[in-house]
Formats: sequence, structure tokens, C-alpha cells
Amino acid sequence: MRKELIEKFSAIKTPFYYYDLELLKQTLRAAKTEADKYQYHVHYALKANCDAQVLATVREHGYGADCVSGNEVKCALDNGFANTQVVFAGVGKTDDEINLALDNDIFCFNCESIPELEVINELAAVKNKTANIALRLNPNVDAYTHKYITTGLEENKFGINAHELDDIIDLLKKLLNLRLIGLHFHIGSQITDFNPFKKLCSKVNEFIHLFEQKGIQFEHINVGGGLGINYKEPDTQAIPDFKTYFAIFNELLELRKGQQLHFELGRALVANCGSLISRVIYVKKGINTNFAILDAGMTELIRPALYQAYHKIENLSSDDKRNVQRYDVVGPVCESSDCFGKAVYLPETKRGHMIAIRSAGAYGEVMASNYNLREKAIGVY
Ligand SMILES: *Cc1c(COP(=O)(O)O)cnc(C)c1O
Repeated sequence: MRKELIEKFSAIKTPFYYYDLELLKQTLRAAKTEADKYQYHVHYALKANCDAQVLATVREHGYGADCVSGNEVKCALDNGFANTQVVFAGVGKTDDEINLALDNDIFCFNCESIPELEVINELAAVKNKTANIALRLNPNVDAYTHKYITTGLEENKFGINAHELDDIIDLLKKLLNLRLIGLHFHIGSQITDFNPFKKLCSKVNEFIHLFEQKGIQFEHINVGGGLGINYKEPDTQAIPDFKTYFAIFNELLELRKGQQLHFELGRALVANCGSLISRVIYVKKGINTNFAILDAGMTELIRPALYQAYHKIENLSSDDKRNVQRYDVVGPVCESSDCFGKAVYLPETKRGHMIAIRSAGAYGEVMASNYNLREKAIGVY
């Protein structure tokens, strides 16, 4: 990290999230440029990061919004995203959330079950409206990512399985306040191997064909998000390979004339622009290792505790490469899983040193909790 930043940070109470808005802009431009080549629509998945500055920056770059709760729909609208560019997914949409989305005439509900279709229809009828819906289908593609963040397998709670389709098509004929406009897919998160996306393309082709045989054509196909980032090298590969990613869909998807393709990217857009900045409270000698105990913990960034996620850890106060030691870098929270990294090699680390936990821009601040009655960490830009 740059020297002037470290000086700026020294006056700020830790822990806090630092968002590099310049890198965010570069990332947003890179993705937009590639998506625009094929006239693809990209919706930003708000659940990755809802910071107001981040949202403003995303919106200014021409992205739509992908929401998974009523409050996210409200947040997107409050932050200036156009209602006609809001999509709303989630397996457990409540009546209140559906009503909010209906009242705001969002672009599309991505629906995940038969009972959900029935409820949206009922609530839309009360308002004398017709809701645009897409069916979230389960393509049964393994994303080869952590089991807690894979979503496209039949055993997951997400999406509609292929054997239900005939029932759904029959049902939709009776649900007159729904307009079926598309298909939706989302196979998981932090996918760094492009093969699952290629498999997704062939599954989508099969589904488009299957529906056509039943006389149904779609205006919209939404292939979700999930593109991963490089947690190991947040500086040398700060921006994901959007070029290859979008080119795969362009090459392999057999879209019909006029069919619009939509994406929902979260992590790939915002992860690397964020760092969690903290200070070392104590260095404690253990039996086989030393513990660097930080003033940030799983309450600010739960990914390591929740899915053994790797985040690069840097000592911003020292770059003395001659005296490198091994540390378990842990937080102050009363849980053994409150650990950011085991056996991390850092320059000799002392009380008061400033530590950066990198790539914390996605699924960091949004997952914060006040467990142990900890205070909410602020965003700094
Ligand atoms: C979480 C989520 C996304 C975004 O996932 P990323 O891995 O952050 O790109 C997109 N669509 C849906 C439906 C989601 O639940």
C-alpha cells in the first residue's frame, strides 16, 4: 500500500474498512467495456457491499442492481438505481418484500419455487399489476468452490429443478398477474476456473431449446454472477479477467434473435478495492507460534471463520524483510475461529503496528456483526 495512505490512516481509529475508489472505478470500467462489446446488461449484486460511496460509484458507471431482500431493493432505489434495472432474487421473499418491489415496479422477480409464484401472483392481483418474473432454474452445475458458496446443484436450496418445469408451465397459464420474461441462473461464488461457466452455457442452451419445444420464448436470459477474484495477488491481479469471462458467454451461448443477456456480478467488482485496516493490540508468545492479536476480528470480516477463506495479510508499519517471523493473526473475539490466518510470515510485528487484511471489499462490511457488543467499523476512502 502507498506511503501517503499509511500516513493518512495513522489518524483514524482502527479497525476500519478502506475502499480504494480509484481501483473500484478501474474495475467497473474494465467490466463495463467488455460487457458493452456484446450489449450485455450487468447488475451489481448489492449484497457484496452496500457502502453508499461504493454504490454511488457503481451506479455512475451504468450498472443495474441485483437484490436479495426488500431492504436491498429499497437501498438500491434510495441510492439512485433505476427501478427498471432492479432484479430481485431469493428463496424466501416475504409478502412485505414482494409488495415493496411491486409498488416500485422493479424490472424482474427471479422466482425460486411454485409457492413463491403463487404468492407474487396473488399480491400483484390485489394491486391490479402484472409482475415480470424469471424462473431461477437449477442447472446442476458444480462450481467447484467452497460448499457453502455453491448454489447451482440440485441438493442446494436455490432454484427450481428441471422435473418441476411442466407443472410450472401449466401453473403459469393460470397465474394471470405474472408475465414470464426470462430464465435465471446463478451457480455459486468465487469461481476462478472458467469451466463451470462453460458448462452453465451448455445447460442454458438446453433449457432455451426445451422451452422452445413447449412453445415458450424468452426476452431475457440472466446467468447470474460468481466470477472469482485473486485473493493471493490483490496487487498484481487486482482486476479479474472480464475479457475471457464475457467472451465465453458470447462464444458458447446460443442466444436467439433479440434475446438480452444479463449478469449479476458482486465480488468481482468490489472485493479487491477494499481492505480491513487494523492495529496490533498485543503480540503473544504461543507454544509453537506467536499470535498477533488485532483490534479487528470476525465481527468485521467473517469469511476466514465462515469458509476458511484466505485473505492476504500485510504489515503496513514495517517492511523489514531481514527479520521475518511466523504469526497466527487473530482477532479479539471470544471464538477460536476468530483467526485471519495461521502461520503467516510477516516482518517482526509489534504492538501498535498497522495491519491490512486485503480483498475485504466483498462480503466484509455487509456481514459485520456486533457480537461481543463490538462497535461498527466505518468506511474510509
Ligand atoms: C450472491 C449473488 C450474486 C453475486 O455473486 P458474486 O459471487 O458476488 O458475483 C449474483 N446473483 C445472485 C442471485 C446471488 O445470490
